[in-house]
Amino acid sequence: MGKKRRKKKRSRKNRWIKTTFISVCFLSLLLILAGVIFVGIQISNAPDISEIDARPEGYLTTVLDKDGEVMKNLFVAESNRVHVSLEVIPDHLEQAFIAIEDARFESHMGIDIKGIFRAFYQGLKTGSFSQGASTITQQLLKNNVFTGWVGEATFYDRLCRKIQEQFLAIRLEQKYSKDWILENYLNTINLGGGTRGVQVAAQYYFGKDVSQLTLSESALIAGITQNPSGYNPLKNPEKSLERYERVLDAMLAQGYISQEEHDLSMAEDIIGQLNQDSENRGMQIFSWFEDALVEQVVADLMEMYDYDETEAWNLLYTGGLTIYSTQDTKLQQICEEVATDSKWYKADQEISVVMMDVSTGAVAAIVGGSKEKTASLSYNRATEAVRQPGSTIKIIGEYAAAVDMGLMDLGTVIDDAPYSYSNGANIRNSYSTYKGMTMLREAVAASSNVIALKTFQTVGMDAVFGYLQKFGISTLTNEDKNEALAIGGTYNGVTNLEMTAAYNTIANDGKYTKPFYYTKVLNRDGLLLLENKATYSNVIGKDTATVLTLAMQEVIASGTGTAAAVKGVDLAGKSGTTNDSRDVWFVGYSSYYTCGIWGGYDNNAAQTSGGYVKQIWQAIMKQAHAGKENIPLVDKDELTCVTVCTKCGKLAVEGVCDTTLQGNMTTEEYFVKGTAPVLPCTCHVKKTLCKSSGLQKGIFCPDDSAEDKVYLIAGTEGTVDYEYVMPENVNNVCDVHTSFWDDLFGDDSQDNPDDDSNQNNDGSGGWFDDLWDGLFG
Ligand SMILES: [Zn+2]
Ligand SMILES: [Zn+2]
Repeated sequence: MGKKRRKKKRSRKNRWIKTTFISVCFLSLLLILAGVIFVGIQISNAPDISEIDARPEGYLTTVLDKDGEVMKNLFVAESNRVHVSLEVIPDHLEQAFIAIEDARFESHMGIDIKGIFRAFYQGLKTGSFSQGASTITQQLLKNNVFTGWVGEATFYDRLCRKIQEQFLAIRLEQKYSKDWILENYLNTINLGGGTRGVQVAAQYYFGKDVSQLTLSESALIAGITQNPSGYNPLKNPEKSLERYERVLDAMLAQGYISQEEHDLSMAEDIIGQLNQDSENRGMQIFSWFEDALVEQVVADLMEMYDYDETEAWNLLYTGGLTIYSTQDTKLQQICEEVATDSKWYKADQEISVVMMDVSTGAVAAIVGGSKEKTASLSYNRATEAVRQPGSTIKIIGEYAAAVDMGLMDLGTVIDDAPYSYSNGANIRNSYSTYKGMTMLREAVAASSNVIALKTFQTVGMDAVFGYLQKFGISTLTNEDKNEALAIGGTYNGVTNLEMTAAYNTIANDGKYTKPFYYTKVLNRDGLLLLENKATYSNVIGKDTATVLTLAMQEVIASGTGTAAAVKGVDLAGKSGTTNDSRDVWFVGYSSYYTCGIWGGYDNNAAQTSGGYVKQIWQAIMKQAHAGKENIPLVDKDELTCVTVCTKCGKLAVEGVCDTTLQGNMTTEEYFVKGTAPVLPCTCHVKKTLCKSSGLQKGIFCPDDSAEDKVYLIAGTEGTVDYEYVMPENVNNVCDVHTSFWDDLFGDDSQDNPDDDSNQNNDGSGGWFDDLWDGLFG
């Protein structure tokens, strides 16, 4: 019985397995069939291969400024592209492209099945499917903007396009020879700096005809095409050199060159051979703003629509787009005129300017260098140069963190005194003294390094790091997790763009906006392709922003930034200077604009003076605000104003804090409502002394010998406070007037208490005291 039942059970199980297997097979077949039908439909809908234009002209793209005026028309100028036949192109140039871009070009049928599977396998392994296997044939197709392909957004649309692209690549191979495909490919590819094709690139990078290119020069040019801006050797020599070596390795591995040729090229200083003065030879030249704008549009097109770089650039140049940029053309002119004026700095010094609209976070103007711009997409010091930030980082790092975490406000005092990092190294101020107990406003205005470090330690490294990241500083690494960060010693540095955006956050009540250069991009049919809506993220509270603004107003009113002041315009800002003035900064804002200026040498050499950045900032802000109504940065009606003692930040005591030995140690300070101090000064003490002895007035001291002195209760040696600290013996009662006679007759030498006490001590005076002591002592 039991056996039978088990058998029955097993056969039921078998049947179940069989049914499942058949179902799976059937479903798979259905899916495959559906896939084939789907692919078939896509293929039948594919653009006609005869549409392929070996020299695609496409449609003009129009760039508008913030007021809707045309800034620029983008197109591939005739001179950007010169067609040369395969005969004049050196073999090693063709081989370099094939080796790095499409090793199986000579044998595949348009698509590289092996490469597709490898990319798929890599994708499964790494989770990133971006490593597409695009053949030279497919890349040639991408240089053509098929009108039906412009502007698709969904995954489905992209999938359709990918299928059609594979199909067209196969069709293209059937219709044309490999030579035809290679020749047209080499004449249409984007090789950086606005160049199209190898002939223009040869002229652009090496100032020679393509037929004259050496093996090394060919390898360098072939390396550019995968990422035309990233591997542009004039702009990113290091990355381009890495790529150059990969091209040579690939050529060696595929047997195009010998080991000896490979090694000779590796040893060559190929970057040194670049034609640095390359004129654009009639090519369209983008402004600094346009450079940054088109790079953002290209990057966004790639992200939103999964285009590769070639496709995105081609769409930009030939897709007939309309780009609504955020450039304020008037401001752009002001910034360029002022910042590139040679009167400010030495001939080879460099400058960058970023100007943002406070309320929207849109970039209004950009200057990426001191020289007249002679090339498109060249090195932009405003957006690409990563430089040491110096003290500008204190505000967005430890001070923002401390105030926002409720650990600090304008009433907080910290001792500016000799101090060292945790590793024992001394920290120094840029001024040679130590100010003793110092309030936040003064610490920021004078840019105290000691107080910055102490604040950094109080807040903690991770918190500072977190705030800097929230402020949009993207260039920090784990190497930056050390105390040097407190005063701007970073591993890589920061860009002017990100620093200005961080300060714009404070200007805009603590709300960060990622800098953007356009509001929308429409395709040729007027449909929305890309849109930038200002999206805000709260980094710090509004009250924190207010406190930081008040402190930075002091920088311009009386601190390190007085040279940046503009009469009649409410401004706040912060300077930054690194060792030997290698990097100098001024970053600040009005209610309208945030402006960041960096100055230095490209090679990081020392500068003799860095004050010019403040003068440039002042000149730009002055012109930018001409005719504009002044809007106060801070609404003081929303704040509480109290008179505080500057040495302890508590309420000033009249007759005490305002008459100290150090002078009037009171100031009017603003507090967010509910945070103003309520307790009186605890750092000052008023003593009534007898002038004769300098000790506490006793009952026998004549009234006219009394004087009040206000001391500090405590102060650290080495600071300016130290000499105003109450001496210990002050609490002793006067030892000059020790009997009622003194009170009665007064003391005739009271104007000279030192002499008086000497007389007393050496016994040559005070006869009555002696007598008194003799009788009663
Ligand atoms: Zn006081
Ligand atoms: Zn006395």
